[in-house]
Amino acid sequence: MVTRRVNGARFAAIRLRPASDLYPRCGRIVRSHRDPQRLWAIISIRESDLGVTNMSDNEATTQSTLMKGKRGLVLGIATERSIAYGIAQVLSAQGAELAVTYQVDQLASRVTSLAQGLGASIIQPADVQNPEHLDQLFTTIAKQWGGLDFIVHSIAFSDRKELEGAYANTTRANFLNTMDISCYSFTDLARRSAAMMPNGGSMLTLTYLGGERVLPHYNVMGVAKAALEASVRYLAADFGTRKIRVNAISAGPVKTLAASGISDFRFIMRWNEINAPLRRNITTIEAGNAALFLLSDLGTGVTGETVYVDAGYHILGMMSVEGAPEVADLLNHMKAERKERLSKK
Ligand code: NAP
Repeated sequence: MVTRRVNGARFAAIRLRPASDLYPRCGRIVRSHRDPQRLWAIISIRESDLGVTNMSDNEATTQSTLMKGKRGLVLGIATERSIAYGIAQVLSAQGAELAVTYQVDQLASRVTSLAQGLGASIIQPADVQNPEHLDQLFTTIAKQWGGLDFIVHSIAFSDRKELEGAYANTTRANFLNTMDISCYSFTDLARRSAAMMPNGGSMLTLTYLGGERVLPHYNVMGVAKAALEASVRYLAADFGTRKIRVNAISAGPVKTLAASGISDFRFIMRWNEINAPLRRNITTIEAGNAALFLLSDLGTGVTGETVYVDAGYHILGMMSVEGAPEVADLLNHMKAERKERLSKK
């Protein structure tokens, strides 16, 4: 994509793909040219959305090459709010060719339309607990592409009834299911993918600070994330000599379907916003920009690492003093909400 900076704002000339909602999401359409052969638009873009900050004024540059020639599998797009979708948007904008999966047939049409907007050439069902799905997926990739350059695993699940109350009450069945979907699936996919990366590659999974520290209601998911982060290190050691890198992004809270299963998630988002050094929450595109670094040749020296994209929240030892009045408001609001909920029961 050619971008140009004019009077402090950056603009891009883009080709609108049929059914694509990607670029209008990145910026406001300033001017468009429509004919059946060519659909062009000039859009204003936030530089942070495309990872192109710190470029000098009036510098024109081609920004679509960092992932050019690379083919990769992205698992975990459920909606346009999914972290995986933010990552896929950035990778596709940088020239990657994608294979995208969906878990259940009910989501097929929604995920297919998002995937088509990204120009994905493979779109297939893949429940990570179903080995036949995975066999079929990797057979298709082998037939169509002959190999893989990267994989993004952005999948987690736990029974929402156990994402509140005490961790000690976790049932064996939900413990095992949470571990299977949220942790083992990455090892399974990593092994299958590595077999298709004869010239090296890069693997990425998504984790959360709840894997390292106790965070409210994260419970068994925190235990699964701890195991996932350990898996990243062991897999990095297993595959390092084959030039395959394995990393994780520890994302700050983002309002997605999976997150809505965690009790008091709105509170967690607001808490992060008040206290994080950047005083805000992150966007999925920011997770995508970090993923771009780890999955492209920019990150060739990095493996076994957890990279935080959380507006700096993980560095804190104590909450912000300036934020104290806002925290007090938030706590009062929560108390009132709880009281109302209890009175309705
Ligand atoms: P999301 O949009 O709901 O994505 C979660 C994905 O996991 C969905 O696509 C879901 O598919 C998929 N999934 C669940 N069980 C599956 C299975 N058996 N087989 C295949 N796919 C399955 O939520 P998200 O927040 O982007 O989550 C992505 C990753 O980011 C997760 O690992 C999550 O723990 C991590 N993360 C999230 C946050 C946050 O605040 N949102 C913060 C840090 C890390 P279905 O919808 O079809 O079930």
